[in-house]
Order: sequence, then structure tokens, then C-alpha cells
Amino acid sequence: MSDLIPLDPGARRAILDAVDGLRDGAVALLARLVRHRSLLGEEAGCITEMEGVFAGLGLDPWRVPIDTAALADVPGFSPPLMSYAGRDNVVALHRPREARGRSLMLQGHVDVVPEGAADLWTTPPFDPQVRGGRMYGRGAADMKAGLVSAAMAMQAIRQAGMQPAAELQMAAVIEEECTGNGALAVMHALPRPDACLIPEPGPGYPALYVAEVGVVWAWITVTGRPAHVREMHAGVNAIEAAYVVMERFRAYEGEMNRAERRHPAFAEVNHPINVNMGTLTGGEWNSSVPTRARLGIRVGVMPGHSCHLVRAEIEGIVAELAGEPRLRGARLAVEFQGFLADGCVFPPDQPISRAVSALHQSVTGEALRHCAASGLTDARHYVLTGGTQATCYGPDADNIHGIDESVGLDAMHDVTRVIALLIAGWCGVERR
Ligand SMILES: [Zn+2]
Repeated sequence: MSDLIPLDPGARRAILDAVDGLRDGAVALLARLVRHRSLLGEEAGCITEMEGVFAGLGLDPWRVPIDTAALADVPGFSPPLMSYAGRDNVVALHRPREARGRSLMLQGHVDVVPEGAADLWTTPPFDPQVRGGRMYGRGAADMKAGLVSAAMAMQAIRQAGMQPAAELQMAAVIEEECTGNGALAVMHALPRPDACLIPEPGPGYPALYVAEVGVVWAWITVTGRPAHVREMHAGVNAIEAAYVVMERFRAYEGEMNRAERRHPAFAEVNHPINVNMGTLTGGEWNSSVPTRARLGIRVGVMPGHSCHLVRAEIEGIVAELAGEPRLRGARLAVEFQGFLADGCVFPPDQPISRAVSALHQSVTGEALRHCAASGLTDARHYVLTGGTQATCYGPDADNIHGIDESVGLDAMHDVTRVIALLIAGWCGVERR
């Protein structure tokens, strides 16, 4: 465990005992966070809750706004979907009396994706319930449990009579699920940490992220030609034209998953690049040929294949479709709002990854799997432009972005124990 500052057995025991003592409080905090319906644009309540959590750790939290004008030319910025007025991130710093260890950022996002068809949930998505050792609710796993683990880890260190002997940064950010601009604003507002850990759940607990894809969001508007249905064939149906567009992007997806296009980290991953047809709106009247449809898609980006190139490829496909006879003259336009993000690699042999792996093994007796994720996280910013090391490691998650999302509470507890020992071993500790 040479990546970690040695911790005497008494201090280790005191920290782990403190984590155990905080277990019920951790579950209660998770329930409070899940009750905040922190969808896009509705994050404020959950941010205020996290501000209180940071203050409860003896820290002095402050808000970090997302200043579009200041960030527009910063690498990694994605075109926003909506205004940032009144929509801040919250951060807090612990400063040691004497900095002896390495600084660490523990970051999580408060935003959640929509619940989907709420009637499909066994219990309401924003009314957290514990069944069979798991908490169910939208955002429980992705990633409010991670926010809880980070906060409780710091609390345990304090209760054990210690504090980190290096700067510890804590952040709760917005827009991880659509732009990553919250994390980007925070990264540029704080000193560069020696490492960043994001307790995002990986696919197949227990997992350590070793790579992730990038993502581009595109919006394609199809304009047809209106007609009464009795002259239906005189019109051009915008919704049917959108199906032709989807078919073409499905073919592009197949092309991008070919073995020779893959980064080595994804060699063994089944279908790493996904094109999701996420939203389709359009049409005006059941007895009128629809004039307009808007298709929202999410396109994965292989590490090493820039998101700007993928954007150009999407533009190329849309331009080429203009000549497609089945579109019968429908007009296409594409715009980009939301993710414009590159993929990245989190080498498993970098110090922060080795430290997390060793601690997980020592706490649970189990080895971490390495996962190359076909979705993205905010960790990319630290690696791609932040000039520091980062990775993700989080609790046992089921059905994130799906119905009946849940997190395993034993796993959340283990992650808290690992993060507490990581703070102690990475930053070092001093007496409070
Ligand atoms: Zn997440």
C-alpha cells in the first residue's frame, strides 16, 4: 500500500468505528437527498441540502455559479440546454494546519435524469423506500449515495478526532447528466487537486473506472410538407422522415463499434458506442400530415476519436440525408445542445486508482473489477484538461436511468469506509 501514508492501527480502527456509528445517519441523509426531485433546472433544493451537509462538517461552503461567458471558450465546455441563472454548484474546502499529504477532490452530482413512466415504479421514484437492504428511488444510486459516502467519510475522520493533513475539496455539482458544465466551473474555481475521486457507481459492483466514452448530443429537426390526410401522398410526413434519419444513425453506430475503431480499453466491451434515440416530438393533428418533428439523439464517442470530429460526422450524415429519395424533399437541420464531451482513460496503475483498489481489497476482502464504461462522468474534466489524475468508484447500483433504481446500503457503507481510509491515507491526518 505504498501509495498511501501509513495509518496506525488505532487510528484506522477509530475511523472505521466512526463510520459504523454513522450508518443510520447516512441512510437518513440519502433518503433526504432522494426526496429532492433534482431534475434539470430543479437542482436548487438539493444543492441547499448539500450546503448544509458541508457546513455540518465544520466547513465553510460557498456557491460556484456557471458563468457561460467566462467558460464558453474553456476546453470541455458543452453548449448549454438552459440558463444558469439561480442554478449554482456548492463547494467546500478543508485546509489543514500543516499540509503534509496530497490534496484530494471528492465530487458528486445532485442532478438526476427523469423518472420515466412513474406508474412503472414499484414505489414512487422520489419517495425513497428501503427493501431487502436496498434504497429505491431516482438518484439513490446515481449518485446521491456517493455524495453521502463522501460526506460521511469526512465526518467519521472528524469524529475520530482527526482531520486531513492536506487540502480536501468537496463539491456537489449540477448538470453531470447533460453537459458536465457544473463540474467544469468548479474545477476552474478551485486550486488543482492532486487527485479527484467521484463516487459514481460503476457497472457491476465492485468496479473501478479505467476508461469511459465521450458523448455528443444532437437535435435534428425534420420539416415536411403539410397536407390533409385525404391527399396524404401530396405531403411529406416529418415523423416518417425522422424514422429514415434514425435508421441512418443506427448504421453509423454499427460502423463505430467495429473492432478496428476501438480503443484498447474497450476491446472486450460489448457494443461500447451507443446511439440513443432519446426524444422524438412532432406532429400537430391526427388527420394532418405532420409538418415538423424533432429528434434528440445521444452519440457515444470512443476515446481518441474527438467529440468535435463526431459532431462533424453528424453534420455530414444530416447533409448527406438531404439527397435521400425516401425523405421526398423533407428539410433537415441539426443543432448541438448538451454534451460535447471526449472519452478518456483512467489508468488503473495511477496512484489514486491503486490506492482505491488496495483499500477496497483491505476493507471488503474483494478485488475491484476494472470497468470501461459506455457512459460518461464528470471525472473526464480532471484528466482531459485539469492536469490531474481522477477515477470513479462507487456503490452497488441497479437500474440507474431506469425504473426502480436502487443502491445497496451495505455497499454504500463499504464505499464510505474506503473513502474515509482514502482521505486518511492520501491526505494524511493530523489531530483536530
Ligand atoms: Zn452519475
